[in-house]
Amino acid sequence: MIYADNAATTALDIDAFEAMKPFLLSQYGNASQPYSFSRSARNALKLSRERIAKCINANPDEIYFTSGGTESDNWALKGIALEDKKKTIITSKIEHHAILNTCASLERKGINVIYIPVDCKGKIIENSFENEVKNNNYALSSIMFANNEIGTIQPIKHLCDIAHKYGHIFHTDAVQAIGHIKVDVKELDIDMLSASAHKFNGPKGIGFLYIKNGIKIAPYIDGGQQENKLRSGTENIASIVGMSIALEKNCKQIENNTNKLTKLEYILLRELKLKKIDFIRNGADNHIPGNLSLSFKNSSGEMLLHRLDLMGICVSTGSACNSKNTSISHVLKSISIPIEYANGTIRISFGSNNKINDANIIANAISKIIKG
Ligand code: PLP
Repeated sequence: MIYADNAATTALDIDAFEAMKPFLLSQYGNASQPYSFSRSARNALKLSRERIAKCINANPDEIYFTSGGTESDNWALKGIALEDKKKTIITSKIEHHAILNTCASLERKGINVIYIPVDCKGKIIENSFENEVKNNNYALSSIMFANNEIGTIQPIKHLCDIAHKYGHIFHTDAVQAIGHIKVDVKELDIDMLSASAHKFNGPKGIGFLYIKNGIKIAPYIDGGQQENKLRSGTENIASIVGMSIALEKNCKQIENNTNKLTKLEYILLRELKLKKIDFIRNGADNHIPGNLSLSFKNSSGEMLLHRLDLMGICVSTGSACNSKNTSISHVLKSISIPIEYANGTIRISFGSNNKINDANIIANAISKIIKG
């Protein structure tokens, strides 16, 4: 099998798995208990928080553990909108549904949500963003760091500066970026950031929300007062440890991984062109390494996915969370690709586990299918 759907999820890193094991089997103490048996769980929680904070240049007390990207996004938006009585949220048209459906839910509660368009590469139209931010002082902006379907990376520092100029709080869904490209929350001056472990070779069902010190946010889960009384519930120590090891490892390997993934992208595109396949590549030059959204003329993404599956190759038609919806995704609609290409879109997302030859095999398989 060739797994080329790493934007949907990644394999668990072996060192992360080994580091998790003791906290599932022998050192299972509740981190909140004062006796010595729980000491290793408590220490692991502290160390993991420090390790994660270091990877994004945050302070350890700015990292809040959650169940993943969806929860972090929900908390960021609902926590600010409800705590700070924000009346407006400014976001983009190409966000993940974890943001879009949270916005829809807040709209039903009377919050005004403005959706900023993107250009044909999936980049936020900065003038539209600035105009809306200017007209809605002291609101909340939430713009994704990198898009999950087409990989486009947004000019986050610039957008964050615009947001701050007009008193906005700036949140970014960085689920596709963390562990794949360098993210420094202090340098970028981000107020809140969502991340999810299973996108960077950590376990599923764990993530974190970075909340800059000083940002006032409503608690997301009330209960036993864990996570500084903001997100209660007994901590999932094993997964938190696994996430921290995976993130640390991925961050150290960003440069090597980027080189390898860029090579894989290059080979796949070169082979498809050599085979004279009619396709367009979606997204911007500045994109998440290894993420290729390709649209094949007069083809069907659905058909390609299933035929590739029969050949032992896993790719996606768009975002995994959208796999049951066979119509053209909101992202592809927003970048206005011609309809004769849009229907034939697949997303190939390479990861560190892929071999260089995988790119050749996938290109051959696509060519075989397209040429019938
Ligand atoms: N945000 C983005 C950009 C994503 O790609 C995803 C998952 O695909 C999520 C949020 C949701 O993350 P999780 O699966 O951890 O809930």
